[in-house]
Amino acid sequence: MIKCPHCEFDGEHKLLRVWKFRWWGSYLYECPRCNGRFRYYVDPSGRRKNFIIKAGKKRELAVPA
Ligand SMILES: [Zn+2]
Repeated sequence: MIKCPHCEFDGEHKLLRVWKFRWWGSYLYECPRCNGRFRYYVDPSGRRKNFIIKAGKKRELAVPA
């Protein structure tokens, strides 16, 4: 389960965007509890770890999905 890096919420997050970052799958999520946004990166080969980056609150996402 993905955990919000802002408030540790680990329930259902709202998926805002999906795109490719080099070989990574990249997902932009919004936390329903604190409205914080974060990016979640997934390596499709599974050889590297998935990781989460904070993306600030209500400031990113200038481009609509
Ligand atoms: Zn949160």
